[in-house]
Amino acid sequence: MLNELTIIQAREGLNKKKFTSVELTKACLGRISERNGRINAFITVFEEEALKEAVKADEMIARGKISELTGIPFSVKDAICAKDRRSTGGAKILNNYVPPFDATVIQKIRNQGAVLLGKNNCDAFGHGASNENSMYGPVRNPHDEERVAGGSSGGSAAAVADNMCIFSIAEDTGGSIRQPASFCGVAGLRPSYGRNSRYGIMPMASSLDTAGPIAKTVKDLAIVQKIMAGRDKKDSTTVANDVPDYLKLLSQSIEGMRVGVPEEYFSASSKGGPASGWKGMDKEVRAIIENRIKGLEKMGCEIIDVSLPYTKYASPVYYLIVPSEDSSNLGRLDGIRYGMQAKADNLFEVYTKSRAQGFPEEVKRRIMVGTYALSAGYYDAYYRKAQKVRTLICQDFEKVFKKVDLLVTPTSPFPAFKLGEKKDDVLSMYLADVFVSPAAVAGIPALSVPVEKTKAGLPVGLQVIGPRMFEGKVMQLAYAIEHDN
Ligand code: GLN
Repeated sequence: MLNELTIIQAREGLNKKKFTSVELTKACLGRISERNGRINAFITVFEEEALKEAVKADEMIARGKISELTGIPFSVKDAICAKDRRSTGGAKILNNYVPPFDATVIQKIRNQGAVLLGKNNCDAFGHGASNENSMYGPVRNPHDEERVAGGSSGGSAAAVADNMCIFSIAEDTGGSIRQPASFCGVAGLRPSYGRNSRYGIMPMASSLDTAGPIAKTVKDLAIVQKIMAGRDKKDSTTVANDVPDYLKLLSQSIEGMRVGVPEEYFSASSKGGPASGWKGMDKEVRAIIENRIKGLEKMGCEIIDVSLPYTKYASPVYYLIVPSEDSSNLGRLDGIRYGMQAKADNLFEVYTKSRAQGFPEEVKRRIMVGTYALSAGYYDAYYRKAQKVRTLICQDFEKVFKKVDLLVTPTSPFPAFKLGEKKDDVLSMYLADVFVSPAAVAGIPALSVPVEKTKAGLPVGLQVIGPRMFEGKVMQLAYAIEHDN
């Protein structure tokens, strides 16, 4: 089936005229109409527009104007803006919002003639680890529909895993690309902070938000990341560093690579695990990851035990800094400037009712926590302290990367959990991020690559973490792991 192809395979087929972009797009749209009622991976599908884009792409191909993604159908997390395409961010407050511009990363992809199929379901504005905070219903995991797809980019990961699109663009503030990729058995990359533009991503926590790809293979990630990367005048936090040829790096040998295994990710809370209250790792996940680490040794890597003592504070720091930045960023959604406006008798009520009706509970919780942490008298005790500890977490990584090239960890302590299992237990939902939030807090690149499945058939992801701006190396190791079967 055409919709099952990877980018590399689709490119080859399109170039050799084995099929057209219209046929490929129709195959994806067909899969979406067959499956989306069940999986709920898309909030909006642009059937007509996608077919028009595919016709254009076929014309480009006929004229020999071919880039890597010309004619390839993709999807975008709903918290990233796409010009003239409804983008809700997973929240009702933007139910009718149609951005007049593309996010830079989306523009770069669309400029190549890629075909935008639709916008993916996500936890509202990226707040969540299960997609149950979407105001458009949760996403179901294609591997077990009683389970969550992960969050917040669950729609993107499920759409790729269920072959509704060839690849997807998502956003990772504290794990939202890697954790759903791991739960759905696909590959997801969070590049270094500053590598890809944030312009046009609905801001959650501006000092952490990072756009990245979710795809079927690491090679496909490398192709898309190369296109997304680079300095953008519209985002002053992007860096001007050269973007390496990631694909070339993948074929290089990993022999002699020094791979660190941080003890904190494998020990229970009593031994200084990632957060107090963390109950340790699922046994099957541990066995699968440990087996893969042995595999790396066989491939010639030097495995080195390391320690990241401040890792245990990453989640608490994350859940102070993120709500603080959130409370400020979400202030723009007031019922006046964008999207939905509630019926009200006076201006004050417009604000309160629009926000009360337009945000889900979790978004309201973050705004309240953040406002509290930033308020006079508490700022020093919470926000400033969290920023100081953030520096210590960054230094932990800097020190360790003097001894090793990369780190490997599980992406999540457990495979996909049941829908409803953690929904009302906020802390345990937050702890679903224990392994993905440290790299996010430090702004360094990390990737989740699918490895074995559990006996129950649930995918398990392995996380590779690298030093800042070394996403190429991260993908190189992940590629070797993906091919070690
Ligand atoms: N689970 C994290 C949170 O709820 C993930 C956020 C993200 O990366 N967008 O904050």
